Amino acid sequence: MMKQWKGKMDAIVAGAGFAGAVMARELAEAGKRVLVLEKREHIGGNMYEEADEAGIRVHVYGPHIFHTNEERVFRYIQQFGQWNVYEHRVKGKIKGKEVPIPFNFTSLEALFPLEQAEKIETKLLAAFEGKTRVTVLELMEHGDQEIAELGQFVFDHVFKGYTAKQWGMPVLQVDRSVISRVPVVLGRDDRYFGDRFQAMPAEGYTKIFENILAHPNIVCQTGMDVMDLLTLQPDGTMRFDGVDFKGIFIYTGMPDVLLQNCFGCLPYRSLRLEFEILQQDDFQSASVVNYPNSEEFTRITEFKKLTGQEKPGVTTILREYPMAFTAKEGQEAYYPIENPQNRELHGMYEKALRQWENLYLCGRLAEYRYYNMDGVILRALDLAREILQKEKVCQTAKV
Ligand SMILES: Cc1cc2nc3c(=O)[nH]c(=O)nc-3n(C[C@H](O)[C@H](O)[C@H](O)COP(=O)(O)OP(=O)(O)OC[C@H]3O[C@@H](n4cnc5c(N)ncnc54)[C@H](O)[C@@H]3O)c2cc1C
Repeated sequence: MMKQWKGKMDAIVAGAGFAGAVMARELAEAGKRVLVLEKREHIGGNMYEEADEAGIRVHVYGPHIFHTNEERVFRYIQQFGQWNVYEHRVKGKIKGKEVPIPFNFTSLEALFPLEQAEKIETKLLAAFEGKTRVTVLELMEHGDQEIAELGQFVFDHVFKGYTAKQWGMPVLQVDRSVISRVPVVLGRDDRYFGDRFQAMPAEGYTKIFENILAHPNIVCQTGMDVMDLLTLQPDGTMRFDGVDFKGIFIYTGMPDVLLQNCFGCLPYRSLRLEFEILQQDDFQSASVVNYPNSEEFTRITEFKKLTGQEKPGVTTILREYPMAFTAKEGQEAYYPIENPQNRELHGMYEKALRQWENLYLCGRLAEYRYYNMDGVILRALDLAREILQKEKVCQTAKV
């Protein structure tokens, strides 16, 4: 297949997650011949989904729920398959009770004496009039002592233990951007996300990726590491499979690898994922239950409750154990560790890679950013438009 395309492709995309697949599709729609190479044996990136021995569809790299406020992104993904409305609900084991997460008024009433809970609720509604969600930081930094104390309670019991497990460091060392993402709901809305559009693909994520990549201008090959074929030459040119390549090169993997980790390795957090098939109808009261303060794992996902499959007598669960990423065989880099030092290190790679003008970084790994799925799709759509626009300007200048 490689030979058939040799010298003939206009664009090469490394990686078949959302960043790579959407980039490939947009370039293909604009008439470019695109070669997508994916180093794993399957497409779909971390959204890859397959049926296990019990016939239950599992998310092989951890549970993924689509949610967005961007109508443009929601419309875009709807072209590639049917999506069912799915409102994600999470519980957390706090002080021996299972309470809604994000922390809301139901959680408050389960953990505080009712009279005290109601008094705080009234104060919260007055202090944040018109808002339905605030961040834990906003509560902690509030001038009212009772609100600030509630913020501290949520921080200590819902956030601190979970975050320390997740990031493997004391919570105070965690970047403020992470803490500022933790919401508290001012009401009884127990949906995990507050976004306008929340959905799951009716036939699974893998089918969506097959449809995105099903375009006559796209050839996709799995089990192929781009690093085995690519040479970045010191003069700013590149060779691919032994031939000069001047087309568009999109890279969605780890950027340090492109330059042989010359400035040092970018750190990531990884996960050990433990799947278990149980011979019972149900395991837990929500699709995800968080364990912020007990156990070594952070959460348990029960997949039937995500996919909506009817499978009596059997259910599959997943326990997630966070750990450091060490680039060993079989380990995955899941989360970039966002802090000023790591952002600076990433910036050094980004700057050095600008030397190759036809190379573009896109996605969670390449840009070293915690993107949700909607964020990465939006980024890919914008980058594709930018690249095509740039080409048009160059062609006009040549004429
Ligand atoms: C545990 C977990 C749960 C998450 N849950 C949600 C959620 O519920 N909702 C949500 O919106 N977001 C969620 N996310 C975020 C979501 O996973 C990302 O937004 C998404 O993966 C970004 O897509 P991507 O294409 O940038 O990266 P990936 O999906 O990681 O795709 C990159 C692909 O590039 C391939 N690749 C890398 N290097 C090379 C190479 N040299 N050659 C060829 N191929 C290469 C990789 O194998 C991979 O398949 C979650 C993330 C994690 C880690």
